[in-house]
Amino acid sequence: MSKDYYEILGITKNSSQEEIKRAYRKLAHQHHPDKKGGDEKKFKEINEAYQILGDDKKRSQYDRFGQTFNGNAGGGAYDSPGGFDFSGFQQGFGGVDIGDIFEDFLGGFGGFGGGRGSRQGRTKRGSDIAINLEISFEESVFGVKRSVVIDRTVLCEHCGGKGAEPESTIKKCGTCQGTGTVRETRRSLFGSFTSLAECSICKGRGEIPEKPCKVCRGIGAIKKRSTIELDIPPGIRDTEAIKYTGRGEEMPGGSAGDLYVKIRVHPHAVFRREGNDLLMELNLPLSKMILGCEENIETLDGKIQIKIPELSKSGDFLRLRGKGVASPRRGGRGDLLIRLYQKLPKKLSHNAKKLLIDLEKEGL
Ligand SMILES: [Zn+2]
Ligand SMILES: [Zn+2]
Repeated sequence: MSKDYYEILGITKNSSQEEIKRAYRKLAHQHHPDKKGGDEKKFKEINEAYQILGDDKKRSQYDRFGQTFNGNAGGGAYDSPGGFDFSGFQQGFGGVDIGDIFEDFLGGFGGFGGGRGSRQGRTKRGSDIAINLEISFEESVFGVKRSVVIDRTVLCEHCGGKGAEPESTIKKCGTCQGTGTVRETRRSLFGSFTSLAECSICKGRGEIPEKPCKVCRGIGAIKKRSTIELDIPPGIRDTEAIKYTGRGEEMPGGSAGDLYVKIRVHPHAVFRREGNDLLMELNLPLSKMILGCEENIETLDGKIQIKIPELSKSGDFLRLRGKGVASPRRGGRGDLLIRLYQKLPKKLSHNAKKLLIDLEKEGL
C-alpha cells in the first residue's frame, strides 16, 4: 500500500497539473495493455496515481496524509479480469475529465473491445461518498464501532438492479447491438478520431427491459436511507480518513463507489497525544515530591497506582509502558508519560511557615 504516486508518474511534488497530465498521458500510452509490449499492472498503477494526483483535492489529501487510507480489500477500480476498467473515472472522482485523454489514444488502438472482452471491461462505478465523523479522545485510542445513516443510491431490491419487472423479458438493445457502446467519430486538431461512447438508449447496459421495473422506473437503483456500521480502528488520528471499499453509491450493472470517513477527534481535558504516547501532568505538594509517595491516578485504562520516587522535581517524567495509544503499524501500544509538577499552596499557614524555617536550617 505504500506507493509513491509521484514516483510512479515520474514527477515531483512541485509539478503542475499540466505536467502531471502530460506525464500521465505519456506513460499511459507507453504501457497501455492493448498495445504491443503493454503492461497491465503498470498501466493500473499509473491510473491509480493519476486518479489521486490529477485531482487537486485528492492530491492535497494525499500530500497531507500519504497512504493513510485503510480497508482497500480488493474490489478496487481496476480489478476486472481481462480488459481494463474505466470505473471511477467520470463518476466519483470529482470531475476529473480524463475521458478526453483516453478517447484520443484508444481510437488509435482500435478501441477497447477489440478481442479483450467487450462489455465486461467497461463496468460502471457508483460515486464515492465522503462524510465527517466526530469521536471522543477515548474512542480514538481504543477504537469504536459506530453506525451512520446515509442517504445513498442502492440497487433496487424489486428488480435486483436489472431495471425490469421480475419474470419479464429483457431484450438486446437494437441501437448498440447489445454492446452498450456506440462508435463516434470526432474531429480534433490532430485529425479525426473514432471513439466509443456509452449507448444513450440502454445507458451502456446493452439490454432493454420489456417491462420497466415499477419501483425504480427501469433505472435499477433507488435513493435509500441506509445505516452503515463503521469499525473505527484503535489509534486513529484527528483528520485521518478511512476508506470503506464498496460502501459508496451503488451502480446497476457496475460496482459500488467507496465511502470515505474523515475522523475528527475531540481533545481531552487531561491527556494529550504525542505520536503513540499519551501525556498527562500530575501536580504534587512539596513534601510528596521530596519524600516520594504512592499515588492513585486516573488513566484511560482505569485507576493505576504509581510510585513517585524520592527527590522528584518539577518537569520529571514517569513512563508507564504500554498505556498509550495503539500503534496499528508496529503493533502494541505507546506509553503514558506523566510529567510531575510541584504544586505550591495559595497561602502559607503559621505552622507550615514554622516547619519550613526548620527545613531551611537543614539546608532544604
Ligand atoms: Zn444500447
Ligand atoms: Zn427496480
